[in-house]
Amino acid sequence: MIRKLQSGFFTILLAAMLLHSCSLVPLTGRRQLSLVSDNEMFSTSFVQYDQFLNENKLSTNTVQTNMVRAVGKHIQNAVTTYFAQNNMSQGLNGFAWEFNLIESKEVNAWCMPGGKVVVYSGLLPVTQNENGLAVVMGHEIAHAAARHSNERMSQALLAQLGGQTLAAALQNEPQTTQDIWMSLFGVGVQVGAMLPYSRLQESEADHLGLIFMAMAGYDPNGAVAFWQRMSQNAGAKPPEFLSTHPSDENRIQKIKSEIPEAMKYYKK
Ligand SMILES: [Zn+2]
Repeated sequence: MIRKLQSGFFTILLAAMLLHSCSLVPLTGRRQLSLVSDNEMFSTSFVQYDQFLNENKLSTNTVQTNMVRAVGKHIQNAVTTYFAQNNMSQGLNGFAWEFNLIESKEVNAWCMPGGKVVVYSGLLPVTQNENGLAVVMGHEIAHAAARHSNERMSQALLAQLGGQTLAAALQNEPQTTQDIWMSLFGVGVQVGAMLPYSRLQESEADHLGLIFMAMAGYDPNGAVAFWQRMSQNAGAKPPEFLSTHPSDENRIQKIKSEIPEAMKYYKK
């Protein structure tokens, strides 16, 4: 009886906690689970990002590195403008943007919370040019702007560590917490399966990514061509990026249908 009461109490407590921990996606108004504060998320992100850069080789190709930084900076400016125009500038508080290119055969790119971007040199043959790169960077930065990793981290903490806060989880189970973190970005694939973004998060990032790239001066039509190239790239062993970003016909159709809206933001 006591046990039953306790578990009932625990359920109510958990429900109350979840209710309190829901926040709105800044750009779409969708409610999302958020057990983790920006503060916690960013401080962890910045440490993990620096550690990643220490453990990996930065590209020595200055032309490509400069291209990654230039595209990143243009998209950063677009995001800043977009947030300001929508009275949401505080949503970028604490961001410390950084754009780096690492030497790696992997076809991959990601943006950790707070604007910490890495592009893998193996992606560049698929993006082909600055416009293709803007498709991917716009999309990855959109995930960060919409706080998708807070949501995924919260879901993983809830599922694996019983809803501990990030700080508590880091203290109590540092290795598990770090493994979850790595699996969010495909950085430590050896630790287990990657946690892909949900379909909903993917389409939010596609949509926002198109707007950000257009505002940054890149023709959003390039997104259709890029995702078609990605789907042709799917061999026997598809790249990590593709396994978490399935490029099916539905996705490409949806992107096509959003191009006219994005074109309104496009300034050459
Ligand atoms: Zn994505």
